[in-house]
Amino acid sequence: MNDCCFNPNDRMLTTDEAISFLLQRAVTTTQTETITVLDALDRVLAQPITSTLNVPPLDNSAMDGYVARFCDINTEGETVLPVSQRIAAGHVGELLEPGTAARIFTGAPVPEGADTVIMQEQCEQRGDDVVISDNVNKGDHIRRAGEDITQGSEVMSVGQKIRPQDMGLIASVGVAEIDVYKKIRVAIFSTGDELLMPGDPVEPGKIYNSNRYTLTGLLDKAGCEIVDLGCFPDNLDATREAMQQASEKADLIMTTGGVSVGEEDYVKAAIDELGSVEMWRVAMKPGKPVAYGEVNNVPFIGLPGNPVSVFVTFCLFARPVIRTMQGCTDVLPRKMQVVSGFDWTRKGPRREFVRAQLQVDDSGQQQAITFPSQSSGVLTSTVWAQGLIEIPEHTTVAKGDVLNWLDFSELVS
Ligand code: AMP
Ligand code: MG
Repeated sequence: MNDCCFNPNDRMLTTDEAISFLLQRAVTTTQTETITVLDALDRVLAQPITSTLNVPPLDNSAMDGYVARFCDINTEGETVLPVSQRIAAGHVGELLEPGTAARIFTGAPVPEGADTVIMQEQCEQRGDDVVISDNVNKGDHIRRAGEDITQGSEVMSVGQKIRPQDMGLIASVGVAEIDVYKKIRVAIFSTGDELLMPGDPVEPGKIYNSNRYTLTGLLDKAGCEIVDLGCFPDNLDATREAMQQASEKADLIMTTGGVSVGEEDYVKAAIDELGSVEMWRVAMKPGKPVAYGEVNNVPFIGLPGNPVSVFVTFCLFARPVIRTMQGCTDVLPRKMQVVSGFDWTRKGPRREFVRAQLQVDDSGQQQAITFPSQSSGVLTSTVWAQGLIEIPEHTTVAKGDVLNWLDFSELVS
């Protein structure tokens, strides 16, 4: 870790420095597996998908109606044409006899010789003939072969995380199985003598372990396999034992708590015996203490203990690392711009990630408003919020200013 351009112990890191430091060290898994497209949601593609065909494969009708040759249609009045064939979806018709029309249905291939579809609302069937009103243009209502996908084109690239519409697109080129990266295994455990498990009776001086649950949800959403080692007391032996177990079972180790530099924080001492670790002070709020290292050559990220800090530092630091390890090419959350509906006068040296909602005011303008308490212990703020406002270092904000918005849909996925 000496190749780093800064010494993390000297000063606080900026958020951006911490992210780029982590991303430089994150390594994509080499393990892949073949799965069916039906199981592919949220998995990351390990081989590109190239179409062996045109989609649609043939010119076809976009409407239920009749298909004819434009040169047989009178554009200044009615046209009467005998109906020479009927073509339903899934069936290929015959060459259209000149001077006739064919009954055709949505998705059915346009027969050879025909060039224009007239929707049935513009037609009237009279015995064996069809009467077509005017107002027809050459080439109307035909979906062209290959207008969606052309044969030989790459429809999805390595590193794309598969969404529902991607599943449909892959299926549309006839592919049933795809190669994806294997899910990474993330070992988690919590540290703290004060922690009770939900369901346990209340005890004086204790709190319920919420981080384990937040982290489980975040990792699940991020598509990881979770190895949950539970909760360990504040002592060196227990923490070392937990680290050892985690390194045997996982591709990444993640903990919450115990990464400050207090006498009851044992993460650093435990890892020093099994690998190496750096304790960072990141110039951010909430957050600040974050640790990065390796335990028996397995990467380790130590998140702070405060529940809101866990949520925010996971989203900003751990998620991009996880996405890189999973093979995603698009790892950082997209920032949007929103208008501030609040004043912020407490400028400071740390970048603030403020829990906020987007609301529409009486004039129809959307603006961001903040939760009253931004304390790193108030988990309610993350439940109330829809995203985080980023307030840069040394900056005040006035109502109407434009600010960066990190939507939870970008951060928790
Ligand atoms: P620490 O970093 O261990 O000093 O913890 C900082 C704060 O977070 C303390 O108030 C802890 O009680 C709290 N905390 C640590 N771990 C958890 C947890 N798993 N669930 C809820 N709160 C926690
Ligand atoms: Mg602790």
